[in-house]
Amino acid sequence: MSEYQMIINGEKVSADEHFPVLNPATETVIAQCPQATSGHLDAAVDAARQAFPAWRDMSDSARAERVHAIGAALASHADELAQLLVQEQGKPMGGFAGLGAQFEMGGTVAWCHATADLTLPVDIIQDNDEARIEVHRKPLGVVASITPWNYPLLIAIWHTMPALRSGNTVVIKPSEFTPLTTLRAAEIINELLPPGVFNIVTGDGSLGAAMTSHPGIDKIVFTGSTPTGKKIMQGASGNLKRLTLELGGNDAAIVLPDVDVAAVAPKIFATALINNGQTCAALKRLYVHEAVYDELCQALAGIAASVKTGPGDGEVDFGPVQNKPQFDKVCAIAADAKASGARILTGGEPLPGPGYFFPVTIVADIDEGTRLVREEPFGPILPVLKFSDVEDALRRANDSTNGLGGSVWSSDIEAATRLASRLECGTAWVNNHAMIQPDAPFGGVKESGFGVEFGRYGLEEYTSIQTLQVSKV
Ligand code: NAD
Repeated sequence: MSEYQMIINGEKVSADEHFPVLNPATETVIAQCPQATSGHLDAAVDAARQAFPAWRDMSDSARAERVHAIGAALASHADELAQLLVQEQGKPMGGFAGLGAQFEMGGTVAWCHATADLTLPVDIIQDNDEARIEVHRKPLGVVASITPWNYPLLIAIWHTMPALRSGNTVVIKPSEFTPLTTLRAAEIINELLPPGVFNIVTGDGSLGAAMTSHPGIDKIVFTGSTPTGKKIMQGASGNLKRLTLELGGNDAAIVLPDVDVAAVAPKIFATALINNGQTCAALKRLYVHEAVYDELCQALAGIAASVKTGPGDGEVDFGPVQNKPQFDKVCAIAADAKASGARILTGGEPLPGPGYFFPVTIVADIDEGTRLVREEPFGPILPVLKFSDVEDALRRANDSTNGLGGSVWSSDIEAATRLASRLECGTAWVNNHAMIQPDAPFGGVKESGFGVEFGRYGLEEYTSIQTLQVSKV
């Protein structure tokens, strides 16, 4: 069995204690991972602080080159890293609509290069006989990244490449459920960087909490659940850490009566079930006009009946739910939906073990007050709700403490765009959902968090403003 090591100040570091990492398809232990102590965290933060001035003062183009080089190095290890993702995360290599481990690797490499190409030009506010006033973007210092288990590598890259690109140094802690791909990627990344610029420590939520309150860390970028996001916000107040919080979502989609059901059904299915439903911005509540309700339910159930759920190293569309607590939550939410009298069109019961397998479950005629509608299930289960009045659908869609994404589906693009702009969410799509790209900002409103990632807006979050005023009189 492989034993993994952390990287602190460019050196591989072990620990006295380890925790097991499971393959969710077999429930067997695939690796032992070091449990960082507070001493390891202090050493990692110290190393990042020591490395910061030289990294900050390096030329902008030199830093861009390093981030490009990281993209190229990860690409050259794509097969190995994708295999690790399959083993620890459970997702298939290819998967439904090609959205499996290879897709995560492709995104990882693409995001590195796109981030390398970003710039933060100086903004000239005034340049006349009296003064020249410039606005500069300065790196913050040490950025700590805390990541979840659904896209372990891609989210690590989303957090850390803009941090490096803008001149910060990094301490990253991956999820204790999926640390392996990030540990291996950190090794590859470290070959290209000065010691201390990119450090990785591993452990559970208590290590995350220690990072949150650590006085040597200047910013936390966190992707994970809303309850953890709230704890991070509390813990970060000690030294007024900057925060980017990408939290849970319960995205609604509104399907208007003029859609071509046969055309939209596969796209709706793919964006709801992406990564087995374990995607923050997946479509999670589907509001369908009564005129097309039965036809769309039938089309979605037809696709669900045709897909295969099984171990990710086989020819399957979907793998297991990633971990036992999440699996138990999906089972409980499905049982609650069934007990509420909702119509289970496909699935509904866990598959026989071993492994945390739950089939794609489409649920019709479900009440608004059920757990499946109110909570984020984060699994392969989709409620389909009926409406007759568009304003009522909009009110129900917006009746959520979350506000990550939302969508409207229609053949009348103008009407759909007007309606989409009234959704209370960070990204509103028309005739699509869950589509993100490296140059368009992505983030939540309400309890889905604050701050954005990607593109220039995302890069700015890793900096503070310095106004430079040169008097000429
Ligand atoms: P989680 O909040 O349980 O854990 C995420 C990370 O936080 C892990 O590394 C964990 O060890 C750490 N952590 C736990 N307790 C902590 C604490 N008190 N202080 C600091 N760190 C702590 O989330 P999860 O179960 O890994 O991920 C699923 C959730 O993430 C879902 O709600 C999903 O919607 C959300 N998510 C959001 C986005 C987004 O971009 N908005 C993307 C992916 C996932």
